[in-house]
Amino acid sequence: MRFSPQDQNILEHLCRAGAAHPHLDTLFHFYEQLFQIQFAFKARLREDRHLGYLEEKDIDPERLASGIPQVSFDDLRMEASPWIDLYGDIAALLIRDTECLAPDNREPQPETILAQALEIFTSKVPLVGSGQPADVTRTASGLVLAPYLQLACEHLMPRITQSAWHRGHCPVCGGAPSFAVVHAEPDFRTLLCSRCNGEWRFRRMGCPFCMERDHQTYYPTESGDYRLYVCEACRRYLKSLDMQESDSERCLPVETLSTVSMDLAAREKGWLFF
Ligand SMILES: [Zn+2]
Ligand SMILES: [Zn+2]
Repeated sequence: MRFSPQDQNILEHLCRAGAAHPHLDTLFHFYEQLFQIQFAFKARLREDRHLGYLEEKDIDPERLASGIPQVSFDDLRMEASPWIDLYGDIAALLIRDTECLAPDNREPQPETILAQALEIFTSKVPLVGSGQPADVTRTASGLVLAPYLQLACEHLMPRITQSAWHRGHCPVCGGAPSFAVVHAEPDFRTLLCSRCNGEWRFRRMGCPFCMERDHQTYYPTESGDYRLYVCEACRRYLKSLDMQESDSERCLPVETLSTVSMDLAAREKGWLFF
């Protein structure tokens, strides 16, 4: 089973971040196990060319122009796949290593899992950490979606013309951003999709959730490396990495985990993740 270079890179950064933040040991340990499960499944999907047709599929310019993501839920073709084992592995991990409670009744039917995954896909919510109650079926259903969305993103995002998309949601899957990078030049931010790990450009100022341009504030962290952007219009916050004076290589899916203390501080003050 060979992980893609991107997935291997995420695991290496995760390992380094774990060493740099020993107090987050439990969190990093959980995500290392989760990513191993998801990346192994994605490698199988790739080998089976499950979403291989997306490699050939043209980027739809009308969707780009009207703000519609490139993939629909049906495009993921989740109906005839071995994802039920993936669900079982993820649910077992959640029950063992998190505060998610095991469901009272027996395992959910595949239709229930698919219905949950569809609801999550459509509502643009992040797959984890969106403040829902810790429900194993819902959380695991969302995490089953991730390998499909990530694979679709790997096929499509490199071919999307960044200047043709100015939206606050992901051009591939429609997900909300969970993290941003502020660059010095040119004058834009990079947003990270909370679901498919896609990265896209967004304007420097303004809220990607409600698109309000005014009533935006940010608070730099003590080290100055990060900023917490808050929008007084919709009450949401966005963690950001300030890379105006640095060009070191960063792995955004791992940065979102390393900065969990910013989430806690923001939520304590009543700001919303999504
Ligand atoms: Zn996405
Ligand atoms: Zn807003």
